Amino acid sequence: MSSALKELNETLGFKSNEVFLYGFLQNTFVIIHEDEDNKICVSIKFPNELDESDMERIKSWEKDGYAKKIEKDSDDTSSVEISFKSSNKDKIKEVLEDISGYYIGKYPEAKITCYGKDCTEETNIDIYELNGVPIPLCEKCAKELEKDLEKANIEEEAAPGNYLRGFLGASLFSIPGILVSFIFIMLGKIAAISGFVYYYLALKGYSWAKGKFDKIGVLIVSVTSLLFVVIGTYLSTIADIVIEVRKTDGFKDAPLSDVIQFAIAFAKLPEVKDDIQKNIYLALFVCGICIVVYAIQAFKSAGQKLTIKKG
Ligand SMILES: [Zn+2]
Repeated sequence: MSSALKELNETLGFKSNEVFLYGFLQNTFVIIHEDEDNKICVSIKFPNELDESDMERIKSWEKDGYAKKIEKDSDDTSSVEISFKSSNKDKIKEVLEDISGYYIGKYPEAKITCYGKDCTEETNIDIYELNGVPIPLCEKCAKELEKDLEKANIEEEAAPGNYLRGFLGASLFSIPGILVSFIFIMLGKIAAISGFVYYYLALKGYSWAKGKFDKIGVLIVSVTSLLFVVIGTYLSTIADIVIEVRKTDGFKDAPLSDVIQFAIAFAKLPEVKDDIQKNIYLALFVCGICIVVYAIQAFKSAGQKLTIKKG
């Protein structure tokens, strides 16, 4: 958690986990996090849907210049999302207290109800973290959800890996990536970017083949993309040689199979072989870094269990 959020939490006295600050303000429920630009974003959940006069009142903070943008949540019409211009904790607190004060003044009886499916419980609501995301739930719904998650976790663990299918899918989807390597080699460039392309294609192919996204799955996707970096670089170099050879007088009218045979033999010459290997190593090195960085993220989240715990 950033220092701006920590400071804000000292002012608000909310609960927190690694990502969110959350708590009740009057009869509203507030969740705070930082977006990718490190701007503070607040989601305020109200007991009921807001009407136009409520929105107008709340949006006045936009005009005042404190908030960059205030809008209704597109999925949840009783929620409002606010992104703030600055991380000034006093200003943010002022806005939140003003809005929650306004709301309870107008709707003193309204209460946040349980977020459980078809549940209207409004007393004994606690905040639970569902995979780290805070939601208000009654005890009964929390217990039911816990049971459902346990079941889902067990099912997920028992689900077939489909690793071979996944590998074949990843390979199949990676084939068009060879064209990208080829274009780069034609342009005389080392196809570092093609590493991303292969990783992306392998990922798509793996999920298309319904491969399981556990740690083995991430490994298969990574290895497939590295494999295709090698295959793609080699085949593209051969294709490049074929094109060059065809331009020479002796091979202009020769059948393609002869030219390919010649290109493969040519590629085995020590100097050419060294060159191709150098190309492959360099591509592997650059692509490997990209893939590793990307795969570490995927590896961390792969096979993670669904959790619920009291906030
Ligand atoms: Zn409930």
